[in-house]
Amino acid sequence: MDDEHIHLVLNNYYTLLDRVDVHIKNLEKRYTDKITCKKGCDACCKFLTVFPVEAFAISVAFIKLKKSIQKKIEKKIKNQGVCPLLIDQACTLYSARPVICRTHGYPIYMKKEGETFIDFCPENFKGITSFPKDALLSIDQLNTTLIAINQHFIESFETDLDLPDRIPISEAIILEQKLKN
Ligand code: SF4
Repeated sequence: MDDEHIHLVLNNYYTLLDRVDVHIKNLEKRYTDKITCKKGCDACCKFLTVFPVEAFAISVAFIKLKKSIQKKIEKKIKNQGVCPLLIDQACTLYSARPVICRTHGYPIYMKKEGETFIDFCPENFKGITSFPKDALLSIDQLNTTLIAINQHFIESFETDLDLPDRIPISEAIILEQKLKN
């Protein structure tokens, strides 16, 4: 699949990533001294599964990595507890990381049985007891958008492969290759 076609099937997903990144950048400006997330802090980088559209974006970025890095990642796949993309405490596909990795640690909110729950990494926002609404990401809204984008991706992709609802990162890295065959 050429770059133009790839960009076409991932266009909606990339637009969502841009929107999430803008929100996070604004938060970082607003709460500069309250956010401790940085390279080397890898507590969130556990085994995770992603939607097929995210898996495809990861696989597209994976094939562009140096072969030596690809090999390091492949060697890490056996360790199910940690994300195989984490090498030397840094994400090897940082710019292609999935949505959850972009929002992790930042304030999100969700509704459960009529109540609103707010969550963020306890290492961040120390001393802050409430957030203005525009500082919060609605995880329900984000998931609804991601599900719709994923559905559109699956429908626009002509393949005989029966894609699962969620794909572990260890399998996501080879999705582009799989879809080609
Ligand atoms: S994709 Fe990158 S940021 Fe996300 S869990 Fe894996 S190593 Fe961490």
